[in-house]
Amino acid sequence: MKVIIIDPGHGGNDPGAVNKGSFEKNYNLILAKKIQSYLQNNYEVKVLLTRSSDTTVSLDARTDFANKEKADFYLSIHQNSGGGEGFESYVYINVGAETKKIQNAIHTRTTEVMNKYGARNRGQKQANFHVLRETKMPAVLLEVLFIDNEKNLALLNRGDFQNEVSAAIASGTATALSLKQKQPDPKELFVTLAGAFEQKKNADERVQFLAGKKISSYIDEVTISNKKYYRVQAGAFQKRENAEAHVVKIRALGIKDAYVMVKGEEGTKTPEPEPPKPEPPAGLTIQGKTVLTAEEMERFVKRVNPDAPSLALLYVQIGQVYGIRADAAYAQAIHETGYFRFQGSVKASQNNYAGIGATGKGESAVFNTPQEGVLAHIQHLYAYSSTEPLPPQYPLADPRFELVQRGSAKTWNQLNGKWAVPGTTYSTMILEIYKQMLNESKAPLQERINLIDEQIKEI
Ligand SMILES: [Zn+2]
Repeated sequence: MKVIIIDPGHGGNDPGAVNKGSFEKNYNLILAKKIQSYLQNNYEVKVLLTRSSDTTVSLDARTDFANKEKADFYLSIHQNSGGGEGFESYVYINVGAETKKIQNAIHTRTTEVMNKYGARNRGQKQANFHVLRETKMPAVLLEVLFIDNEKNLALLNRGDFQNEVSAAIASGTATALSLKQKQPDPKELFVTLAGAFEQKKNADERVQFLAGKKISSYIDEVTISNKKYYRVQAGAFQKRENAEAHVVKIRALGIKDAYVMVKGEEGTKTPEPEPPKPEPPAGLTIQGKTVLTAEEMERFVKRVNPDAPSLALLYVQIGQVYGIRADAAYAQAIHETGYFRFQGSVKASQNNYAGIGATGKGESAVFNTPQEGVLAHIQHLYAYSSTEPLPPQYPLADPRFELVQRGSAKTWNQLNGKWAVPGTTYSTMILEIYKQMLNESKAPLQERINLIDEQIKEI
């Protein structure tokens, strides 16, 4: 079996190129891992990384490792900087035709993705880089994009871009090295589910919605633990990658409960490997009392991000109208926006603090003001946690309110698999932040109590 070394540039003490809080080393590692799994999932090949975490590895150690493994190909992943824009690839000076062929295959496939996302093709180049010179096998180094170019950096932060560019690099590599494709296991079928419902009416609506987006689907009735479910099946594939690509497309329409299910050849006769709606344990309710003050909530955020916008008071005021725990909702916003640093695909100017999708487009919603954004977030939580009509105080701001199965998540745990996919850790992450917020707010109070106690003692 062929051996490929993927070398995520820099790491540990060496961040590589830096743009404010964004480090080259992190993007190199993300892409390298994606390329590795894409290759290993689809081809008969052994793929090793020169580092698989944020550690310091010398250039010598990297090339020694590749030489010792007698690798067939060495691929180094970097991000550029210095005021340019776009993608370029490098091989060593005076390399043979074989290495040039590999460079060309990877470069060509990658450029297709760059074109799609509007990034420039800077060409196939040669350089006297250590990792290209000291490796005994064909070696290519990619400068994927410029970390100090804001448009390029925004792309690097997008999950869809990361996936597509990694797949392109991997497939270019596979073509050039003539890697053998993995044969799909004929017993396995990868089914794309676009939601599962207890009521058929909701499943029907989902099928219609998808049809409007030119995605055909049908309802598959299953009984799991004596309970009947209507699953919306939107395609079945022999290859997992195809099913996953389809899920990405469906999620982009705002259907966040789409996922891939592996189905045996026997279909529904085999035990279901993944029941669609395991009812999670109760836990903290979404509706309830807000215990923290806006000041306490903001103090918590600003310790991490001093530039965070002032939204806590809006959360408290609007949360009260809908009976939503505003401090826990605020913790959800912290999770969704990365402490309001907005380094993901949603931009700060969208005022979208909870990753709410737009109707129709495969994008996240845009709100005109911070107040409208907070309102939409709270209303979306209200849609999940209540079956009551909207209170009259505010107009409807949540574009997806009507698409929520009303009352389907009374607790934060029950949002798993509904608000975000994969759905097993979403609530844990939110509640962990919320718990930290609660604990940190206790400390100054405790100090005051101690002070008061001391005073009492002195009397
Ligand atoms: Zn670099």
